[in-house]
Amino acid sequence: MPPPVFRFAPSPNGFLHLGHAYSALLNFDSARASGGRLLLRIEDIDAARCRPEFEAAIYQDLAWLGVTWETPVRRQSEHLDLYREAVAKLAAQGLIYPAFESRAEIARLVAQRGTGGPWPRDPDGAPLYPGSATSRPPEERARLLRSGVPYAWRLDMASACARAGGLSWAEQGEGPNRETGTVTAEPQAWGDVILARKETPTSYHLSVVIDDALQGVTHVTRGLDLFPSTSVHRLLQKLLDLPEPVYRHHWLVLDDAGQKLSKSTRATGLRELRAAGATPADIRRMIGLS
Ligand code: GLU
Repeated sequence: MPPPVFRFAPSPNGFLHLGHAYSALLNFDSARASGGRLLLRIEDIDAARCRPEFEAAIYQDLAWLGVTWETPVRRQSEHLDLYREAVAKLAAQGLIYPAFESRAEIARLVAQRGTGGPWPRDPDGAPLYPGSATSRPPEERARLLRSGVPYAWRLDMASACARAGGLSWAEQGEGPNRETGTVTAEPQAWGDVILARKETPTSYHLSVVIDDALQGVTHVTRGLDLFPSTSVHRLLQKLLDLPEPVYRHHWLVLDDAGQKLSKSTRATGLRELRAAGATPADIRRMIGLS
């Protein structure tokens, strides 16, 4: 049996906090305990928010914590062509379509239609896309594409689900259905989710499944905030014929007010804690990983 492969995949859009430490150390400890490997992946596709100093700080903070990982580190921004290929594959299957509405236009459309109660929202709280693959004639979409206006590639969720059939995943962590160890995927909850944009030829969902497959990741250990995303990931794995890892979604480290930690809250930042004299062992104790 090849050794299990774990990964920690932060986005360099801020400094790491206790929540990242928890996720990184869980992955590191799990890899160690199972004779497995730990990969580090820098998820830096969002050029507007990612910065080199945050990436440098990730390496420093993880090394300080005592985490070791294999090199070279994979940086998503260096693999955009690969994501473009996947978009082309989905386009060839007729499962994605270009959509041209801005966020503001979507809000306006939703407000116009909102007569019978609140408009449905996706698990991240954004209104579901009110259009569809057939809400504009193909010629009009082709003309708009040629005109150079911004667009997003959206997954035709109904067709994609019909193509994929029922999906589930093996769950070793927290969250709904953890007793049975099998979770039924519900990608429909996301509507016609965006998979790529004109200016960024990928999205979190698309690049994460491609990289997990390409890097041979067998165990995805990450926060429960990403639990709903796993439904989309299972769907994309099926459509792109990619292997299925085992998932472990862990509890989130919360602040004193019970809120999810933010990259801008200084009190829980690893750099601040280190500057205040905390040791890596203190960090482990603070997050219950002694
Ligand atoms: N890059 C994502 C984040 O920083 C995590 C991705 C994942 O673990 O699947 O939230």
